[in-house]
Amino acid sequence: MSKKKVSEEKSFFEKQIYDLKQLLEISKSLNSTMDFSALIEAFLYICMGQFQTTGVAMFTKTDFDATSFQMGDNFYGFDIKEDEDYSFQEDHPFIHFLTKNPSCLTIEQLNESGLKKDKALKALLSLEPTLIVPLKVKGRINGILVLGQQINQNPYSDYDKEHMTAIASLAAIAINNAMLLEMSTTDMMTHLKLKHFFYTVLAEKLEMCENKGVSLSVVMLDIDFFKRFNDTYGHACGDLVLQKVAEVIHQNTRIQDLAARYGGEEFVVLLCDTDSRTAEKIAERIRFSIENMDIVYGEQHLTVTISGGIAQYNPQIDFSPKILVDRADKALYQSKENGRNRVTVANSGGL
Ligand code: GH3
Ligand code: MG
Ligand code: MG
Repeated sequence: MSKKKVSEEKSFFEKQIYDLKQLLEISKSLNSTMDFSALIEAFLYICMGQFQTTGVAMFTKTDFDATSFQMGDNFYGFDIKEDEDYSFQEDHPFIHFLTKNPSCLTIEQLNESGLKKDKALKALLSLEPTLIVPLKVKGRINGILVLGQQINQNPYSDYDKEHMTAIASLAAIAINNAMLLEMSTTDMMTHLKLKHFFYTVLAEKLEMCENKGVSLSVVMLDIDFFKRFNDTYGHACGDLVLQKVAEVIHQNTRIQDLAARYGGEEFVVLLCDTDSRTAEKIAERIRFSIENMDIVYGEQHLTVTISGGIAQYNPQIDFSPKILVDRADKALYQSKENGRNRVTVANSGGL
């Protein structure tokens, strides 16, 4: 074998070893984040870094019960039109096609596919992609990666496509895991988090707050006379009320906060970097919004009220997350005692 050939083979194997090491790092990085949007962002950065592309975008389901794949804000480097709808319904022929066809799809292959260029496909093509990579788990699509041209303007080689397919399969598994976690920690009726997940996050946040000396408050909320409501209007109507109340609570919590369904008609909100005075204002805003909410059920216009209890974390007395939540619960009880449809701040325990 000529010296040149030996040297070429050596550098090819070196590249393969390097890429395998990269795959390990990518796997670690993707598996270390369970937060869905952080995961997508990490994946997009990895693709840009690995393939030096001019643009990268990802279509995913935004929720575990979503029925379409949306691009949303998950893109870099593509020119998008504000009024364009970049999405595919899960039963779109393009999704069927990706499910059945090879891992990486060039635009030539897409053009030869015979797929009808409807509005959704035209929107995708308007991004002028070079390569489309389906993310598949157990034969099902859970994301579509769209890549622009490589900066060096070379076409993607077979080796690139193989490498991309490997990265995409790692991302597909990580996305699937994140979705499963999301599903198993979410209450299906209200779409708020479940109690056990709330306690896991609360324990983490309390430790962080203590280390950083930052305040944290917990708000317990309970719908007033809900049993009577169910008895009068029926359980289905009660369920609708629970969803509407949860929506108001969700709208009043920031991304760093956490709202959970604590039990039947009880909710709990974890407010980070928030003292009891600010938490009281937030709880009062939620209470006011719920009191003024017009709930339309069939022909009927209904209203409900809610009572709240607030406790600010005090490391001197809150030796466990449960103690803090119990103090908020006691304050809630006071609200009930004092006539309901009000919020009460717990004794601060010397704060
Ligand atoms: P209070 O003002 O003291 O809180 O009175 P309440 O009637 O709201 O309290 P109580 O604890 O006596 O009743 C709670 C009711 O919530 C009883 C139960 O039927 C209802 N509930 C719990 N979970 C659900 C649910 O998932 N759907 C519906 N529709 N009702 C539920
Ligand atoms: Mg109640
Ligand atoms: Mg209750």
